[in-house]
Amino acid sequence: MIDQLSANPGLKPAPRAHRTIGIQPVMPRARTGNGWMVQSDFDGTISLEDVTDTLLERFGRPGWRELEAAWERGEIGSRECMKGQVLLLDMSPAELQEHLATIEIDPHFAGFVQAARSRGMEVQVVSDGIDHVITTVLDHHGLGDLQVIANRLVQTGPRSWQLQSPYASATCARASGNCKCERLAEAQAEHGRVLYVGDSTSDFCVSGKADFVLAKYKLIDHCRAKGIAHAPFTDFSQAQALMEALVTAREYAAA
Ligand SMILES: [Mg+2]
Repeated sequence: MIDQLSANPGLKPAPRAHRTIGIQPVMPRARTGNGWMVQSDFDGTISLEDVTDTLLERFGRPGWRELEAAWERGEIGSRECMKGQVLLLDMSPAELQEHLATIEIDPHFAGFVQAARSRGMEVQVVSDGIDHVITTVLDHHGLGDLQVIANRLVQTGPRSWQLQSPYASATCARASGNCKCERLAEAQAEHGRVLYVGDSTSDFCVSGKADFVLAKYKLIDHCRAKGIAHAPFTDFSQAQALMEALVTAREYAAA
């Protein structure tokens, strides 16, 4: 597949993003011609581990592993799985904040975001994880202004929580809390082309619809098996170099 690419120095800088998205609709903006934008998964892609899993291992009451197993067997979708697991979390807001302060992210991610923005590319985090968790972790690393689209965490008692999914879709093939394929289609309609960055099963469905994929971990084999145009990476310094090559190449022959 030969894709005609061009640099886009005339694009406006990415607008300052909302700190959290919650239930707000994604507002349409003017098209940016042939511009690219970036959508990235969070858990395991930006963060070095799945943050929801670390919360469940530390604060989850019995039952969350059974939900995980039912999801892995395909008996329930990720929305139902996550919703049930969050109901089993037993933690105070202070314990949650203290835990989130320990979460590490890829040390090169901030540089990737800066490089993308300098080329007029908007960067969104699109996750089937938890909005408050993601924005808090990003804020700890100086990225609190990054746009995050994810499930919404709501406190229902001193130590109890609920997950809402304002970005679910009745037609989502994965029955996800946040339908990444819908988010991708919205971004393609607005920007033209989406560079999708991900690592694992929550990225399989959307990767087949993206204009190009930067893949690590399980997503590499998936892209290879399905013939999806992609490049493998292990950290965001490599992802940055690949992104820069992609958006500045006049012509790009996809792998
Ligand atoms: Mg992931």
